[in-house]
Amino acid sequence: MEILVVRDNDIDIDIKKCTNILNQICKNVKFKGYNTPINLGNPDTYVDMEKETTILNQKLSHRKRDYTLYVTYRKHPDNYFAHSIRNTMIWSFWGWEYYTNLPLENGLFYIIADILALRIDRSFRHNELTGCIYDFLWEKTGIDIGMKMAHICEGCLERIKNKVEGCKTLEGILMDLVEILNVLSNASRWGKSVFDIYIWMRMHWV
Ligand SMILES: [Zn+2]
Repeated sequence: MEILVVRDNDIDIDIKKCTNILNQICKNVKFKGYNTPINLGNPDTYVDMEKETTILNQKLSHRKRDYTLYVTYRKHPDNYFAHSIRNTMIWSFWGWEYYTNLPLENGLFYIIADILALRIDRSFRHNELTGCIYDFLWEKTGIDIGMKMAHICEGCLERIKNKVEGCKTLEGILMDLVEILNVLSNASRWGKSVFDIYIWMRMHWV
């Protein structure tokens, strides 16, 4: 599975550094960053899901990939963090600073974990806030706890074990998901960037 990460030009996030670290953490899923930002709408307009995914996929038609993640600061009309159409997700960082003090790159790791979790199983989401990656996050401030607690709860682990067993692809995705959650929670609970903690973990644990 290969995920291509693309950013809008209204958001300052080091995609290359994120994908480099993700590729070092993950053994099965591959990450690519798109070098240049792609502008799909005016800063003051809402995200138009149908229209923008069509344009995005046209612009990226030369790139081989299994999944496209587009990050923007613009807002979805319903103020959700994300919407997806087939294998394209548009994630809105609108109002990020109101929900958490953690940096955008931690958010990006959370999104990737969310994408992988849903690739394994889409049958269940927690409506309440538990810190499990299967939380729906009806209350957007919950993302702060989500990043700090980043884990798969016992109930979800039991459920997805049945799906994963005997499927090499899903087993690989689950292994990578756990690694991402470990780096994300280790960084976030100390108020640190995933960029800092990754260097620290390599120095002390490897
Ligand atoms: Zn759970």
